Amino acid sequence: MPDRPCDLRVLILGGTTEARRLADALAAEAPHAHVTTSLAGRVADPATPAAGELRVGGFGGPGALAAWLVAHRIDVLVDATHPFAATISAHAAEAATASGTDHFALRRPGWPTDPRDRRHPARSLADAAAQLPALGAERVFLTTGRQGLDAFAGPELDGLRFLVRTVEPPEPPLPRDIRLLLDRGPYTLEGERALLLDHRVDVLVTKDSGGAATEAKLVAARELGLPVVMIERPPPPEGVPEVPDVPAALARLGVSRGAADTCP
Ligand code: NAP
Repeated sequence: MPDRPCDLRVLILGGTTEARRLADALAAEAPHAHVTTSLAGRVADPATPAAGELRVGGFGGPGALAAWLVAHRIDVLVDATHPFAATISAHAAEAATASGTDHFALRRPGWPTDPRDRRHPARSLADAAAQLPALGAERVFLTTGRQGLDAFAGPELDGLRFLVRTVEPPEPPLPRDIRLLLDRGPYTLEGERALLLDHRVDVLVTKDSGGAATEAKLVAARELGLPVVMIERPPPPEGVPEVPDVPAALARLGVSRGAADTCP
C-alpha cells in the first residue's frame, strides 16, 4: 500500500450502505485517492455513492477480477458487500491472493440480541421455512430479500399468509398466499410497529444482516413479543481481515483526517 492517501487506488465491492459511506468518506478525507465502487447491477435504480467512479456488473469470476485489479493498478480491495453475498466475497479473497492485492472486508456486525427476544436461529432459508409450521404462526413477515423465496413456496406452507418486503419484485416460484411490499429502508420504529399490527403479523423471518437501517423491525417484534426466525450468516472466507465500520476501514487504509493536506 502506498504511504500516503494521495496515491491510493481502491476498489470497493459495494451494494451496501457502508460501501457508499466509505466511498464518500474517502472523497472527503483522501480526495487525491482514486476510488472505484463496483455494483453487481441487480437493482434497477441503485443507491450510489456521491463520489468516486462507479462500475456495474459481474467481473466474470475470480480470475477476471484478479486481472481487473492488476489492469487498474489497485492497491487495496475492500469487500464491502452484504454479509450474505458469499460468492463475491469468496471471489474477492481468491482474486486478491492471486494478484497479490491487499484486501480486507468491511462487514457490519450482526444484530445484538436482547433477553426479551424470541429468536429462532436458522441455518438457511430452507431451514427457516421448515421451522415455520412448528411455530404455530399464520401470518409471516418475510424480509429475507428477493432471492431464494422459492424456499417458502412448498405446499406444506400453503396455509400461511406471507407479507413479503423487497426492493425489487421477486421472481416465481413464490409462496401461494403472498402480499408484496416494494420498499427500501431505512425504516422507522413507528412504521415497523404499525406494519406488524396492521397486517397482524405473528412471526418475522429475516437474515442477520445487521445495520441500523433495517433494525427497527426487530425492536418492534420484541415489543410485540413476536418470534423471529433469524437466518445466520454464511461463514466469511478464511483469513480475510475484517473491520466493522467506516472509521475502522479508513484507519485500515491509512487515511486520517487532514492527511490529504500533505498531498501535492
Ligand atoms: P453473490 O451471490 O455473492 O455474487 C454473485 C455474483 O454477482 C458474483 O460472482 C459476481 O459476479 C457478482 N457480484 C456480486 N456483487 C458484486 C459487486 N459488488 N460488484 C460486481 N459484481 C458483483 O451476490 P448477491 O448475494 O447476489 O449480491 C449481489 C449484490 O447485492 C452485492 O453487491 C451485495 O452487496 C448486494 N446485496 C446482497 C444482499 C444479499 O442478501 N445477498 C442483500 C443486500 C445487498 P462475477 O463472478 O461475474 O464477478
